[in-house]
Amino acid sequence: MKSNQEREDKRMKKPAERSAPDRKRKPFLRRKVCRFCTDKKLDIDYRNPRVLRYFVTERGKIIPRRISGNCAKHQRQITVALKRARNIAILPFTTAAH
Ligand SMILES: [Zn+2]
Repeated sequence: MKSNQEREDKRMKKPAERSAPDRKRKPFLRRKVCRFCTDKKLDIDYRNPRVLRYFVTERGKIIPRRISGNCAKHQRQITVALKRARNIAILPFTTAAH
């Protein structure tokens, strides 16, 4: 059974990934930590478009978590806040196509 086990190990190993703990990936992935967890004073408020603006594209789309770096909890709060903000016309649902 030992040889079988070894073969299994080799298949799982992708040499490039395993050897180098290189954390340089996408250059636009600026911060990995959630900024709301880092900064307790930063409040997710649907009446505050300045905070929400960070998390929408120019076209009004919500920026996904893998790019914004938010944690699940805060990303959810952002989504809710954004939708509220849209409803009271603080943020647009979408900008007009040019
Ligand atoms: Zn967070």
